[in-house]
Amino acid sequence: MSAKLVDLPGKGTFERGVHPHGHKQLAAEASIEVVPSPSEVLIPLLQHTGAPCVAAVKIRDEVKVGDVIGTSDAFISAPIHASVSGTVGKETVATLPNGRHVRALPITAAAEQPLQGQALLNDIYGGEWSTQALDRFEPDHIVKTIREAGIVGQGGAAFPTSVKVTPNEKKPVDVVLVNGCECEPYLTADQRLMQEFPAPIITGALLAGQACGAGQVIVAIEDNKPGAIAAMRKAAEGTGVKIAVVSTRYPMGGEKQTVKAVLGRIIPTGGLPLDVGVVVINVATAAAVARAVLRGKPLTHRVVSVTGAGITQPKNLLVPVGITYGELIDCCGGLTSEAARIVAGGPMMGFTLGDLRVPVTKGTSGVVVLTDADVRKSEETACVRCGRCVDVCPLNLAPTKMALAARHQDHDLARRYHIMACMECGCCAYACPASIPLVQLIRVGKAQLPKE
Ligand code: SF4
Ligand code: SF4
Repeated sequence: MSAKLVDLPGKGTFERGVHPHGHKQLAAEASIEVVPSPSEVLIPLLQHTGAPCVAAVKIRDEVKVGDVIGTSDAFISAPIHASVSGTVGKETVATLPNGRHVRALPITAAAEQPLQGQALLNDIYGGEWSTQALDRFEPDHIVKTIREAGIVGQGGAAFPTSVKVTPNEKKPVDVVLVNGCECEPYLTADQRLMQEFPAPIITGALLAGQACGAGQVIVAIEDNKPGAIAAMRKAAEGTGVKIAVVSTRYPMGGEKQTVKAVLGRIIPTGGLPLDVGVVVINVATAAAVARAVLRGKPLTHRVVSVTGAGITQPKNLLVPVGITYGELIDCCGGLTSEAARIVAGGPMMGFTLGDLRVPVTKGTSGVVVLTDADVRKSEETACVRCGRCVDVCPLNLAPTKMALAARHQDHDLARRYHIMACMECGCCAYACPASIPLVQLIRVGKAQLPKE
C-alpha cells in the first residue's frame, strides 16, 4: 500500500520551514561501500540521550565484535558494544562534535576481523528478512532485545529506541511512523539504505509496531527520492506497511513536522509524538531492530554520508562506531583544495569540526565538507526587524527574542519564549538577511539555563 500527498490527513506538508539547495546529487548515486577495517576505534561510553554507560571491560581484555563493553542500569540509556574484534586499551576521554567530553574506550583491532567488505554489508543488511509470523515475538521480548542490542535513534537525536517502543498504558500508540525523510541538505545515507536494503527496514518497522502495540506502520519519504520510494513500495507489498510520500521541505524530518505532514496531528509545545499516539523511528533504526530480533546482532556499524564539494569522491560508507571522521575523509580520497569547513551532520543542524580525530557514534549521519564558495557570507549586521526568522520557524517560536535573551543571559525571558522547545533546525539563521547567528545564540542560551 502507498499514499501520496493528497491521501494523507496532513496533506504531506507542514507550515513554514525553508527550501535550501539539496546538493543530494553529490552522493545520491554512490552505492553503500564498506570502509576498510580501521587499526583502532575509540568508542564513547555516551552516544545517546540519557545516562552514560560505565565500562564493562578493562584494559588488555580481548573482545569480539558485538561484545558488550559499556552498560548502564538507567531506564533511559543503551549499552555499548565493540565494533571491532581486538584488545581494549586504557579508558580515556573523547570530545564529541558538540564539544562535550565523554569517557571512551579505545580498542586496537586484531589483524583478522570476522567479517569485512561485502560479507559484512550482507551480514548487516543483506539476505532474507521475513515479514511472516512476526507475531511469534512477544512485545516484551522485542523491547528487551532492542535494549540489549544498544539501539538508539540513528537520525541524529540518538534517543534509546527501547524506551520509545515500551508500551505505555497512559499513552497508547496507534501508529509507528518510520522516518525516511532525510531532509538535511547533502545527506544520502538513509536514501541509499532505503534504495539498496528496503527489506530489513520494513521488517524492523513491523517489529517496532508489534512492540508498542501500534496497528499502523507508515514510512514517510520526501518526494525528492524516487529510487528509495520505488524500492520501499516494492518491499512493502503485501505487508500492510504504507509508504507515505511527503513534500520536500526542510525540516520535514523533524518529528513534529513528519507527524503533522503524514497524520495531520499536532504535537503540543514541549510534547512528544507519544502525546498524539505516535512512535517515530528512523529507517536505519528500523533496520537495526530487524537485525537484533531476527539475527541476534547488536548495533555496531552504521551508514554515514561523506559528501560536499570539499570531498574528492563523495560516498556513503558502512562504518564501525568509533572510527574517526578523518579516516572517513581519507577513504573518500581526502579533501579538495577548496575545502573550507568540515561539518559533522548536515549543514543546517550539524557542528563544525575542529579535530578530525573525533569518533563516529551511533547517531552520526554524515560528514559534509563545504568549500569557500559554500560558506562565504556577509558579516553580521544589526537586526532589521524584517521578521523572516519568525516567518520560517516551523515551531512558531520567536528566534530574535530567544537570541536576545541569550545574549543578555536573561533566563526568565528565555524560558518565557520557550527556548528549550527550539529544535535547532537552523531555518531562522538560514533566512536571516543580517547573518545573525541565531541558532548558536539559542544553543548558548539553552546551555546557560540553570538546571531545574
Ligand atoms: S527558533 Fe529554533 S526551531 Fe525555530 S527556526 Fe530557529 S532553530 Fe528552528
Ligand atoms: S531574520 Fe534576522 S534581521 Fe530579520 S528579524 Fe530575524 S533576526 Fe532580525
